[in-house]
Amino acid sequence: MNNKRDYYEILGVSKNASDEEIKRAFRLLAKKYHPDVNKEEGAAEKFKEIGEAYAILSDKNKRSQYDQFGHAAFDGAGANPGFDMGDINLDDILSNLFGNSFGFSSFSSFGGSRRRNAARRGEDILMRINLTFEEAVNGCKKDIKVNVTENCDKCNGTGGFGEVICHTCGGRGVVTEEQRTIFGVMQTQKTCPECKGEGKSFKEVCSNCRGVGKVTKNKTLTVTVPAGIDTGNQLRLSGKGEAGTNGGPNGDIYLEFVVAEHKYFERSNDDIYLEVPITITDAILGCKKEIPTLTGSGFIEIKPGTQNYTKLKLKGKGIKGVNSKTNGDMYVVVNILMPTKLTRKQKSLLEELAETDLETEPEFKEFKKYIK
Ligand SMILES: [Zn+2]
Ligand SMILES: [Zn+2]
Repeated sequence: MNNKRDYYEILGVSKNASDEEIKRAFRLLAKKYHPDVNKEEGAAEKFKEIGEAYAILSDKNKRSQYDQFGHAAFDGAGANPGFDMGDINLDDILSNLFGNSFGFSSFSSFGGSRRRNAARRGEDILMRINLTFEEAVNGCKKDIKVNVTENCDKCNGTGGFGEVICHTCGGRGVVTEEQRTIFGVMQTQKTCPECKGEGKSFKEVCSNCRGVGKVTKNKTLTVTVPAGIDTGNQLRLSGKGEAGTNGGPNGDIYLEFVVAEHKYFERSNDDIYLEVPITITDAILGCKKEIPTLTGSGFIEIKPGTQNYTKLKLKGKGIKGVNSKTNGDMYVVVNILMPTKLTRKQKSLLEELAETDLETEPEFKEFKKYIK
């Protein structure tokens, strides 16, 4: 009778999950399987399944009925004749949960009332773009190769010529089937086998697009990448995605950037870090040191008696992030390197130095107190 999957299992939550846990699980799964982002086969079905599970488990009454009777609680003729899966409005659920900011297109395409000829927005495309450290910091122009569908010029995206309404379904795209179950007669809607749900066919199918109405084109887009891009930043190319259907608008292309590491500079938000190796004598006596910067080179002053890993701040010498008003800072981290190979002369000079009292810092005196 009913081989539906368990609703709790579908959302991956336990039987005593809180409302908050159920909501969270649904949000994550809905984002993952939403047909606007997931093009895998079966994603739409999966999404519908998730929506149904959520509609039941997020409703206190329905959840308690489901807990008692399982799926039979909602099988029309069962315990609850008033409730029908068709009552679930995924659009409402989604807009309640995500608001309009989520950016997904409408969901009315699910369920029996699907309007085949309605204008639909084209799909979005997400692409990962690799940038060098310099390209990201300074901005650049990038040529991006993309395979994108466009409406066929020959048939204006219709797929053919001389449209006729499907006789089998009368243009509805769906046919109704009746099925006897122990709960009574159930009606189910199926995609029309004759027109494959289109509700229409053509006297002549367009040869250019083979009836699809769309053709795939290889395109090169020249994109201006703004200065300050960091890994994970996205850029939207509005209307550059897949062609819409039945006059619907095109989708967008989203570029997500991956910035390569630099040989010397390390980025942390808008700040950059540079480790500078110096000798022990430079650390003891102090020095002026030339260092690379984002814009070329500059000098830093190492004060006499500088300790290892001292951090020097160069204000405003960092990166100007895409959304920042001012530049970040640059930090120079001093790395004092101990010499490991000494000439005879160096060794004797150090030995001479060792004869003198170098333990002038108070820490030496403190430390000796602990030795018995
Ligand atoms: Zn049909
Ligand atoms: Zn065509």
